[in-house]
Amino acid sequence: MQHPGNLFVVAAPSGAGKSSLVKALRELDAHVSPSVSHTTRAPRGQEKHGREYFFASEQEFDAMVANNAFVEWANVHGKRYGTSKRALADRLAGGADVLLEIDYQGALQVKQAFPEAVLIFILPPSWEELRARLENRGEDSPEVIELRLKNASEEMAQVGKFDFVIINELFETALFDLKAIIHAQRLKYAAQRSARADTFASLNIT
Ligand code: GDP
Ligand code: ADP
Ligand code: 5GP
Repeated sequence: MQHPGNLFVVAAPSGAGKSSLVKALRELDAHVSPSVSHTTRAPRGQEKHGREYFFASEQEFDAMVANNAFVEWANVHGKRYGTSKRALADRLAGGADVLLEIDYQGALQVKQAFPEAVLIFILPPSWEELRARLENRGEDSPEVIELRLKNASEEMAQVGKFDFVIINELFETALFDLKAIIHAQRLKYAAQRSARADTFASLNIT
């Protein structure tokens, strides 16, 4: 079998900049493949079914839970979100580096299922900035913003269970940090052994 790809999991309180960072990363690095989650929340303005999310009814989501179709799923801000086994297994087996943008409950479930997963937590620089970003994004109602801020405390309390922490103050610095974590994984012995098999062979390293 080909060497399985790396599995990265990025979590953050809503508004910390997770989606912007992951989007910018993907524009720079075509080898990072996102996994498209299922959710019971409604699509936002520009979101397309199958691109940002697979939008599912409560019944459809129930059926997937009953069929054991999820690697992980969780209730987040009153809606359900899940990563399907299918979305993940095929890509990893094919050697792709897969990145999951999911909440901390899901991240910890993924770590149980895949102990080698690399867990990355993104923090905002301050409460004031977190609120400002949620308000400026202009995607959520004031009630939803208050709920997300209320949940942020509990979410950020989980940061110690993650492997890496990025503080998203200056966007470009945070993006550099994210790239560095991914690059370091690709330099690990097992990954290099597989990616640079010819070089190892030519050096007679058995
Ligand atoms: P965002 O917080 O502004 O990115 O808003 P979203 O509605 O896109 O996501 C809400 C929360 O659900 C975020 O914490 C996401 O990380 C989380 N989420 C998205 N997909 C999944 C998933 O497949 N599983 C889990 N457990 N959480 C997810
Ligand atoms: P999340 O996916 O974590 O909910 P987003 O990526 O949607 O967060 O970011 C929330 C808002 O903050 C967006 O409007 C985004 O453009 C902005 N933003 C992200 N990172 C920064 C940063 N470092 N400085 C200022 N604004 C940022
Ligand atoms: P969105 O608001 O749709 O999540 O992000 C739009 C684009 O703006 C993303 O491609 C992201 O790279 C970029 N972006 C978001 N915030 C910042 C920022 O503070 N600085 C820079 N340089 N780019 C940003």
